[in-house]
Amino acid sequence: MEGRALMWFRKGLRLHDNPALEHACEGAKNVYAVFVLDPWFLAPDPCAPSPGSARVGINRIQFLLGCLKDLDLRLKSRGNQLLLLHGNPVEIIPGLLHKWSIKKLCFEYDTEPYSLQRDNFIKEHATETGVEVCSPVSHTIYNPEDIIAKNGGMVPLTYQSFCRVLGKPSNPLGDGPSHIPPPIDYEGVNVLSVPCLEDLGYKNLNEEFSPFPGGETEGLKRLEESLKDKNWVSEFEKPKGDPTAFMKPATTVLSPYLKFGCVSSRLFYSRLKVLYSQVKSYTKPPVSLEGQLLWREFFYTVGYGTPNFDRMVGSPICKQIPWKDDEDLLAAWRDGHTGYPWIDAAMVQLRKWGWMHHLARHAVACFLTRGDMFVHWEKGRDVFDRLLIDDDWSINNGNWLWLSASAFFAQYHRIYSPITFGQKYDPEGKFVKYFLPVLQDIPKQYIYAPWKAPDEVQKNANCIIGKDYPYPMDHVVANKACRECMAAAYQLNKDATGKPTAEQLDLLK
Ligand code: FAD
Repeated sequence: MEGRALMWFRKGLRLHDNPALEHACEGAKNVYAVFVLDPWFLAPDPCAPSPGSARVGINRIQFLLGCLKDLDLRLKSRGNQLLLLHGNPVEIIPGLLHKWSIKKLCFEYDTEPYSLQRDNFIKEHATETGVEVCSPVSHTIYNPEDIIAKNGGMVPLTYQSFCRVLGKPSNPLGDGPSHIPPPIDYEGVNVLSVPCLEDLGYKNLNEEFSPFPGGETEGLKRLEESLKDKNWVSEFEKPKGDPTAFMKPATTVLSPYLKFGCVSSRLFYSRLKVLYSQVKSYTKPPVSLEGQLLWREFFYTVGYGTPNFDRMVGSPICKQIPWKDDEDLLAAWRDGHTGYPWIDAAMVQLRKWGWMHHLARHAVACFLTRGDMFVHWEKGRDVFDRLLIDDDWSINNGNWLWLSASAFFAQYHRIYSPITFGQKYDPEGKFVKYFLPVLQDIPKQYIYAPWKAPDEVQKNANCIIGKDYPYPMDHVVANKACRECMAAAYQLNKDATGKPTAEQLDLLK
């Protein structure tokens, strides 16, 4: 029994720079590398608007399965293997500690509310039963708690104040243990091999899948490719990328690999620093690639330190705005049926690929909230939460708060045009035509506003607006109404209580 350690993988699905795994291997005779398929995330939901579970869309599940397959192979190459189980971790992990007489439980620290609650329960149980628990921070470069302490116990609410208190991060740990002692005597437990989507009960899988496969091997390859072109990295400026570039995206697409921890953010950061030291000049935060990683750290820190970060009511930083609760508008946005090809194509890309460029996320989030529809940011957040392969609780909530001008950003009158924004980057409409084939034969001069095409043109293109593709809401009218509501809501948020009364809310309707 001496020296048995359980390494519980959740995120952090990698061997390199994995402090929890290093701790598990220290002095251990046997390491049980476990992943639990949790029905809270994964139970198939036939009523969901697209395949997947209620919480997670099919692309992210597929990405996760790719990560698990790769992790198993990599563990095998170091003399170990992945032990995959199905069920509620709160029941399963304590059972395994007992059954396998585990002395040390190791897992990566996770700041998401669901994870914190789950982990605290398991930690308490393990400690009570004499199991040593080791839970280092390695999903982020910095420990959010340290940042808040360095900031005098206050959560830094601006990127600038956040950057001021950052010290030098520690170095990544390297490729991971060369040998991971194998588990023994685990036969009595129902260990699965990595399933496919059908094995998990998902049906109707005829959609196009994400082109980004999961796993540490893919993630590390992507990191190498992203850093290969030193000029590209040193000149990277986020606002200048082309959001319509889809065959070769304008950014790294490392986000899903960072979300699942297939690539260590600390490794990415240190590789960037080495590259910067080898070039004459390079861009700086907030627009540089380093700056992007720091945005990630920023939202993790604020998310960790702010109560009710993921909702409007009860949040100390979120403006109270009387958003509409309009399921039809929400569905039109979610399903890519707004009638604005740029917005709809981006939403189809999200559903089919589980990813879209940052500026496309800006455009669709602005459109749903303060730009046109005035629908609650929490509803849009939920759609992203389900469909993104890189969905990350802190980052997603942080960016939705920002884009809806509910927190961090107050220039609510600065709107992205649903017509000219995409057109500026892709006048031919290649992006739109790829994701919305119904518009394939619409001439380029109408591709961003097809309702303006004369009847004859629509007929020749086999695309009658109002029949084959929706007629849009009037952007100018909708945006004017949104601005008025935002102005009134901002005024009310200045009042002493900070919260609008029922009467005031009525006035805003
Ligand atoms: P790159 O530009 O190559 O950046 C490298 C890494 O930096 C990213 O992988 C990501 O980890 C981090 N990063 C970049 N931009 C941001 C940002 N604005 N905030 C925090 N971290 C950032 N990103 C997520 O990872 N998960 C989400 O759930 C998510 N939800 C978003 C919701 C909205 C409404 C918006 C506007 C943005 C959201 N983002 C989210 C941030 C950003 O759009 C993505 O991180 C980025 O587009 C991912 O592509 P990339 O890896 O090519 O980014």
